[in-house]
Amino acid sequence: MIVPPGATIGIIGGGQLGRMLALAAARLGYRCHVYAPDETGPAALVAARFTRGAFEDEAALARFAGEVDVVTYEFENIPTGPLAAIAALVPLHPPVAALETAQDRLAEKAFIERLGGRPAPYAQVDDRAGLDAALAEIGAPAILKTRRFGYDGKGQARIDGAADADAAWEAVRGAASILEGFIPFDAEYSILLCRGADGEIVTWDAPLNRHEGGILVTSDVPAGPELASAIAEAEALARRAAGALGHVGMLTMEFFACRGAAIFNEMAPRVHNSGHWTIEGATTSQFENHIRAICGLPLGATRRIVPRVAMRNLVGDEATRWRDILADPGARLHLYGKDAPRPGRKMGHVTRLFGDSEE
Ligand code: AMP
Repeated sequence: MIVPPGATIGIIGGGQLGRMLALAAARLGYRCHVYAPDETGPAALVAARFTRGAFEDEAALARFAGEVDVVTYEFENIPTGPLAAIAALVPLHPPVAALETAQDRLAEKAFIERLGGRPAPYAQVDDRAGLDAALAEIGAPAILKTRRFGYDGKGQARIDGAADADAAWEAVRGAASILEGFIPFDAEYSILLCRGADGEIVTWDAPLNRHEGGILVTSDVPAGPELASAIAEAEALARRAAGALGHVGMLTMEFFACRGAAIFNEMAPRVHNSGHWTIEGATTSQFENHIRAICGLPLGATRRIVPRVAMRNLVGDEATRWRDILADPGARLHLYGKDAPRPGRKMGHVTRLFGDSEE
């Protein structure tokens, strides 16, 4: 089904990803209607309409669905029951099955293994005794991660030996979890993929990602040639995953490169922070292609337009440096319109293009 320019796109979730989706949609002549529980927020501030409502409120979501032509989501921790109810009323992309898989680290890893991918060694942990059993199986160092509702390194605890088990169990508050073997990775990278309604798949250059404290700090493209074989393996896996899910829209997968192998970390059925470089650095951004995909339009070319692109997140107080950043003629500044710069909060990002006439 084609949703033509002029129509209204519903976006569930009100953060910076929704904001950048709404901006890309506006450029193509769409209106966006944002649905989120917050009073206002980065997406609501740039959207034609905003409804404040809980993610669990099926009646409010049904009213919202009745006012839009297609629905997408920009946030992963949305209950899938109400989303499935929406999908019966209005086209919803990406599919609920993709979100269900991505929401549960155990289901996600099993899905990837079925497709021939390689996650880090892992074991299911349902209770404190199960953590001891998992530690005996996986060994240390390891990372205990809640199965659900983790993001930006939240809901995770590192375990260097049996003595850390109590503290780790406390850190995840006794939630159903998995224990993951620690991967001594050489690098982290992600696959940015978009699948159109007709099954066409496009990908961008895989960014090399650096995290601090579980939060993405920088994404650089292209990744070095030493990662070429791991990236090719990862991209083939991402294509299989998108096909298996009947995915429409952006699908991002994060990987560790470890001795040439692609070790799957996690996937997100949405646009992703590591794809922000595509706004200025690629012919078509991840945001625009997501909008094109969910509206049934042809996907745009994804070529990198300069030899090198660097994206840096502005976390917490870093965004207060906007004056200095603007004084740098090579810097493209994005601020998300958030009021309080709390530590660990993503407030904006800066993209720099290298190798073009402005270097
Ligand atoms: P996640 O939320 O699972 O993506 O984890 C956030 C970050 O923690 C990752 O990007 C890695 O830098 C680090 N990390 C997570 N899991 C592992 C692992 N199994 N081995 C090594 N580092 C990890």
